[in-house]
Amino acid sequence: MDEKARSLLLQNKIPIARDIRTAYIMDHMIRDEVITPEEEAKVKSQPTPFERANFLINLILDKSKQAYISFYNALRHEGYKDLALLLKEAANAELSDTLKSSNNGITSYVKTAVCEGGVPQRPVVFVERPEHVHKIQKSLYRLKDDPGWITVYGMAGCGKSVLAAEALRDHNMLKDCFPGGVHWVSVGKLDNAGLLMKLQNVCTRLDQDGKYSHRPPLNIEGARDQLRLLVNRMYPRSLLILDDVWDSWALKAFDIQCRVLITSRDKSVTDPLSGFKEAIHVDSELEHSKGLEILACFVDMEVALLPNSAHSIIKVSKGSPLVISLIGALLREFPNRWDFYLTQLKKKQFKRIRKSSSYDYEALDEAMSISVDMLKEEFKKYYNYFSVIEKDVKVPTQVLCILWNMEREDVEDMLQEFVNKSLLYCDRNGKSFYYYLHDLQLDYLTERNRDRLDVLHAKFVDQYKKHYLNIFPTWKQEDCVYWYRYLAYHMAQANMHQDLCSLLFSLNWIKSKTELFGPAHLIHEFVQYRNILDNQNTKAREHFQEFLSVNGHLLGLNPEISIVQLGLGQPEDSEVYRQAILQAREELKSG
Ligand code: ADP
Repeated sequence: MDEKARSLLLQNKIPIARDIRTAYIMDHMIRDEVITPEEEAKVKSQPTPFERANFLINLILDKSKQAYISFYNALRHEGYKDLALLLKEAANAELSDTLKSSNNGITSYVKTAVCEGGVPQRPVVFVERPEHVHKIQKSLYRLKDDPGWITVYGMAGCGKSVLAAEALRDHNMLKDCFPGGVHWVSVGKLDNAGLLMKLQNVCTRLDQDGKYSHRPPLNIEGARDQLRLLVNRMYPRSLLILDDVWDSWALKAFDIQCRVLITSRDKSVTDPLSGFKEAIHVDSELEHSKGLEILACFVDMEVALLPNSAHSIIKVSKGSPLVISLIGALLREFPNRWDFYLTQLKKKQFKRIRKSSSYDYEALDEAMSISVDMLKEEFKKYYNYFSVIEKDVKVPTQVLCILWNMEREDVEDMLQEFVNKSLLYCDRNGKSFYYYLHDLQLDYLTERNRDRLDVLHAKFVDQYKKHYLNIFPTWKQEDCVYWYRYLAYHMAQANMHQDLCSLLFSLNWIKSKTELFGPAHLIHEFVQYRNILDNQNTKAREHFQEFLSVNGHLLGLNPEISIVQLGLGQPEDSEVYRQAILQAREELKSG
């Protein structure tokens, strides 16, 4: 390592060691082959995070410049951009070389662009499908100079999202066509209120400094205008990726004359839209040789040496990459069980209740059933909680820490086990991790736990209440959006009707939620849970809903407005007035 790099590392050792989490940094460095697994084990054996980081930096000090650059890149990609800046000067001279030397066009520019854009990582075992990727890239090149819609369509679980993400990992394409960056949005099946929240999140993500908006857009029209402004002003020539789109009407909210890549089961989702359009089909079955490759990677064997049952497993799996990955992950743990898993897969004992007319998911159900049964009892208990997460929702680690009352590191270690078994997927966004299941896996899990979903939902509510007591999550917390969006949902599903009323008839909750998201989603909840609320207190439901419809937008637009004052303006026989006066007295008492 040259003098400059060494000096920068020594000068900044303390602030770096104080902040970083070594585990993920070392993943990059092992991949770059600048540290060995033995060295990694030594770092991990240090007792505290600070000592682990210190040990790692000392190791790097004794190594070549390549190790320094790998460390620098790892800091950038793991969300420690400020710390990376401290080392930038010495890394820069070599960076252009790194750019040239990295293979497949995945340069550090690409890594940064996809990481910042929230593009999902490759699955644990990944096989290239170059023909499909090139087709998508060819279409994307057509968006170089003009806006338009590219749709990648095919059956659920056939690998559309993985292919779309892969197509983006190309240096020249990103530089030439999308210098404004790429922005991945998991859309899924949505209703109006869900769509608005999704748009609000996208706007906040694109405008982190609040340069173009100080308040969240209050309706879909407003959100579309804000998105248009943001994309035009801050991210010209960028690409929006809308993953797993079900309905055309949701797409209209993104019709802002920009470049869009869509994944969908439905080729015709873009029919009502105008402008340049192109669609690319992905076969429901993976090519046989690719299936073999996945299995071979999992068991670390040459394809030619795979047993005959490997071929049969692919046939029984109907070439579904999702099913093959589940079985592959099982085989990685028990490499002698080829015939056993094949027999299990063929049993077809699990009968799906909701059957799709167009596709046979039995193989997936079987594979899931084997994988979940194989989990340790303790892990099974935790995994089952994913049955009550709504589809297409990525759950931040913090929600699960609260749910299980566990330390972040323990939660992440356990979830990594699920990820390794292809039972769960993980997205990284800076320092935050978000976990989710494939739709079809969620279907299976929900069916499996059908008779105790309420208990699982209730646990979310109980743990939330224990954690937050009388305060509410704030914007800066990574779990904030989750609770505002899904707490009432969990209460309703858990049949906790009393709690649901207390929540929705709470001026403080209404104020916090409208301040962050506007009134639309709350009003939607009043409509959705009307029967439950009416059973508890019809008058209160009417008063609060009316109050929200008339005043909600004021609260959304101006956080300075006092909800108590607004409440005091209600008729005296109103529940809202009653709560407001109680609060006003409390406030007077406490001065
Ligand atoms: P879709 O978007 O079509 O529903 P995904 O792209 O999410 O499907 O893929 C489903 C799962 O199949 C992935 O999570 C992964 O486990 C597996 N898979 C898909 N494509 C590949 C691939 N190229 N290599 C390895 N596994 C894959």
